[in-house]
This record gives sequence, structure tokens and C-alpha cells, in this order.
Amino acid sequence: MGNLIDGKIIAEKIKEEVKKEIEHLKSKGIIPKLIAVSLGENPASMVYMNQQKKNCEKIGINYEILSLSENIDESGIIENIDRLNKNQEVSGIILQLPLPKGVDTRKVQSKISPEKDVEGVNPTNMGWIVYGKPFVGPCTALAVKEIINYLGIDLYGKEVVMVGHSDIVGKPVALLLVDKFATTTICHIGTSDAGKLEEHVKRAEILIVAVGKANLIPGDWIREGAIVIDVGINKVGDKIVGDVEFEKAKEKASWITPVPGGVGPITTAILLRNTVLLTKLQKGV
Ligand code: NAD
Repeated sequence: MGNLIDGKIIAEKIKEEVKKEIEHLKSKGIIPKLIAVSLGENPASMVYMNQQKKNCEKIGINYEILSLSENIDESGIIENIDRLNKNQEVSGIILQLPLPKGVDTRKVQSKISPEKDVEGVNPTNMGWIVYGKPFVGPCTALAVKEIINYLGIDLYGKEVVMVGHSDIVGKPVALLLVDKFATTTICHIGTSDAGKLEEHVKRAEILIVAVGKANLIPGDWIREGAIVIDVGINKVGDKIVGDVEFEKAKEKASWITPVPGGVGPITTAILLRNTVLLTKLQKGV
């Protein structure tokens, strides 16, 4: 048991396709350009942006950081986003979170033009997922779907349990899978507080966990032969671990993602793919 799902292999496959698309765009004189809007000094955000920059440049996407003061107010951030929306040279906008206190994150995200929303966080792009026509959805949710596609799993009638109901992971993942006729249960803090998390997890033929609590899911809760996709990222001492007790879960699962090296690299590849999809849309290619 316990076949590892190697996120890097799936990510490379996506990047190969993206690279071909970028070469085609370049032959038409188009070079995609991403702008990351960053507020104040956030070391975690800097690490993340440097990784994005490296990935973008390796594949042929220009990447720039627009650093704004952490004292800027909501309308100031929105003015900057408006400017980027109108700039023909900018293909995509990434808004680094968290935003300063008092700023309405959802409102600011809604101001990113849906055509430049590479992270799929604008309500229009979220709405397409509800309609069963995902285009540029949230990168991590699409990464989870990509894993299921890669494994060749037929979702029809499968028992899927999604632990976590965030706007960017849990909710869109559940919608993407329910549209393929999986019987999808969403669990969250309320499920745990009601003492019912174990009962749901034990039923899951496909278990996806996006909570952010190390070892939330004990290995012995995993159904024999289940597919386990662990989205969680937790720092324990000097190690990065997921939300599932990996070593024990591996003994029962048929397929399982490691953390790191599972969902993470695919999420980045989807960001690149979203950028190319939107560049093509903007330029009518
Ligand atoms: P979030 O922090 O917005 O929400 C957490 C969810 O977990 C909520 O639905 C909450 O109700 C639920 N929850 C909290 N405690 C619980 C408990 N005891 N039992 C059951 N449910 C509980 O979630 P998010 O932004 O989706 O992030 C979740 C995790 O995924 C984090 O560790 C984050 O770092 C990670 N993440 C990874 C990637 C990636 O690319 N690998 C991308 C995004 C997020």
C-alpha cells in the first residue's frame, strides 16, 4: 500500500504544456507578465514571491513585484489594482495576503479584472466553478483536481470527504468534485466539535484535507485503499508536515501525497497555466 503521488512529476507535465504555449505566444511577439502586489515587509511572502519569480522566469514569464507601503488604505490598494488592470503589458495580478488590518480582502480581490485574475479569486472566476465551467479557478483547488485526473479516478458515485471549507481550497474542491457526481461531504471545525470527524473520514474513498493542523487526521482513520490528498502545510520543529499522520496513513492508503512535494508544486504549475490561459484570452490568441 501507500503509493506516493509525486507532485513534481505532475507539475512538470503541466509546465511542459505551458512552455509550449509560451513559445507559441513568443512567436507572436507576446511575453506574459505577472505582477505580484505586496504590502509591507512580510518574510513568508518574500520567500513565496522569490519562488514564484524563479518558476516564472524559468518558463519564460516576466515577473515583477509592486511593493506598497503597509500604511496604504483600501482605496489606495484598489487604485493600484485599477492601474494594473488598464496596463496592456500586464497579463496577470497576484495579490499577496494577508492585507493590512481594516482592508476588506474580498472587496480588493473583486477589483482584480477577471481577465487578469491568475489566482482565480475574483467572484466571477469563482462563480464559473459553481456553474461547473472552471476556467482560472483557485490554483490549489485545481491542483487537487489535477491529481485525481492524473490517477485516472472515475469520481462517479465515489465517497469523497473534504476536510476544510476555505474559499480557496475546501469549497471549490468540493464543487469541482460534486460536478463529476462524487458524493461529496464537507467537514470543518463544526464537524470536529460535534465529535463526528472520525466517522466521516473513515467512510472516505477519497480524502482531501486542507486545515493547517499537523496530525489532525490519525493514520488509523484512513479507509483501506483510500486516496489521500493532504493540502495542509505545518511547521513542526524544523520540518514541514501536512495535516495527516503520514507514516501510518501510508500503510492504509492506495495513493497518498507527501508534504512537501505533493500538492504544492502542482499549485505553482497551475498558476503558470492560468497566466498563459489569461494572456491568450487578452490577446485573442
Ligand atoms: P483556512 O485556514 O482558511 O481554513 C481552515 C479550515 O479548516 C476551515 O474550514 C476550518 O473550519 C477547518 N478546521 C479548523 N480546525 C479544524 C478541526 N479541528 N477539524 C476540522 N476542521 C477544522 O484554510 P486554507 O487557507 O484552505 O488552508 C488550509 C491549509 O492548507 C493550511 O495549512 C495552508 O497552509 C495549506 N495550503 C496549502 C496550499 C498548497 O499549495 N499546498 C495552498 C493553500 C493552502
